[in-house]
Amino acid sequence: MPKKKKTAVTATEEPISAGEIRDAISVLDQALYNHVQWTDSLNITLICHLRPDERDLRANAHRECRLGQWYYDEKTRVVRNNPNFVELEEAHREMHRQAAHLLALSSDRQEIPMADYERFTHELKRLRLQIETLKRELEDEIYNVDALTGASSRVGMLTKLREQHELVKRDLETCVIVMMDIDKFKAVNDTYGHAAGDRALATFAQHVMRNTRPFDRLFRYGGEEFLLCIPHTDIDAARRMIERIRTELEKIDIACPGYPPFHISASFGMTALDPDVPVTDSIDRADLAVYAAKTQGRNRTVTWDPSIVRVEAG
Ligand code: GH3
Ligand code: MG
Ligand code: MG
Repeated sequence: MPKKKKTAVTATEEPISAGEIRDAISVLDQALYNHVQWTDSLNITLICHLRPDERDLRANAHRECRLGQWYYDEKTRVVRNNPNFVELEEAHREMHRQAAHLLALSSDRQEIPMADYERFTHELKRLRLQIETLKRELEDEIYNVDALTGASSRVGMLTKLREQHELVKRDLETCVIVMMDIDKFKAVNDTYGHAAGDRALATFAQHVMRNTRPFDRLFRYGGEEFLLCIPHTDIDAARRMIERIRTELEKIDIACPGYPPFHISASFGMTALDPDVPVTDSIDRADLAVYAAKTQGRNRTVTWDPSIVRVEAG
């Protein structure tokens, strides 16, 4: 096994593109259609006691149908982190297990107990629901996703933050927001070109998303600025998470044709959503904290406190 360099982490994974999400949606569409067809022929086999397809009797039947082949394949990285995906996988496996059981009874010309058939139809409905849910989430993502970076676009940001704010106000949870701004990004464009700058932006966003949980949400706030929403988290835990992201970011080699790999850093400003002020004020606070991080020398994390105030230009 080749020795890994300790200090450099290469961004090997390409950013998730809108095209990949679209492909995943069409696989799920196809899976819905295929399973309807398959269930029809399963019912005929059961009713007429036909010889079952050997593949449907196998323990790994759920891996062999097209849906199974897709999600046990590497390409499913689009949905791998989605909690609905895990449930879909379970429902699918269980549905095939129940089907194999029914087919075995039928081919032995045994009577099928109604409860067994109902267990099968229950799993089938659960599977359809999971596929529909995942598909809807992906559709949401595609319409609200920033094509360059794979982060959510700003469109749904305030809605999401206001939802979190309601929970914070009712004391149901704490939520931290983090404003992120890539350091000296203009110099990246000037030195390596705009395409390399684009690549650095995508690498940054993918690095953050790989190191956050499925329900954390990264928004592209503007050019090279991002806002991360971290629900169910207090400021200390969020700070540890952000510090890890920040220190790992510096080690990522960003490839750029004609140049040696280059590195980027970013400044982070965080604050907990305050139940007593509008979310836009909390965003302003995170923004002020980033500004403080920049003036303190960049590549650092600053938590907002009331002593950090805006210095008016002029
Ligand atoms: P600081 O450390 O103070 O944040 O410096 P900076 O250079 O990052 O900040 P500044 O706001 O001066 O420059 C931001 C640059 O980001 C300027 C703009 O051209 C670049 N930028 C914004 N959006 C994109 C994009 O989508 N692609 C590329 N390649 N560059 C972008
Ligand atoms: Mg900026
Ligand atoms: Mg910047």
